[in-house]
Amino acid sequence: MKCAICRNGITESGYTTVLLEKDDTTLIFKNVPAQICSNCGEEYISSEINRAILSRAREESDRGITLEMLRFAA
Ligand SMILES: [Zn+2]
Repeated sequence: MKCAICRNGITESGYTTVLLEKDDTTLIFKNVPAQICSNCGEEYISSEINRAILSRAREESDRGITLEMLRFAA
């Protein structure tokens, strides 16, 4: 797809790292599938994957995790 930020680049499938902070919990998700702009580097994460990240974050937060690095698996 065409990048909405720079309007110049085309996004390509790749992987990114997402840092998420919720209350006292900090989670780092590695290996998150994303569309990445080849021009400006903007990352687009699908709403489906975003939802999965948020629900995982809620679980970890409920478990009382304060800092964790996770390998994302859809
Ligand atoms: Zn771009």
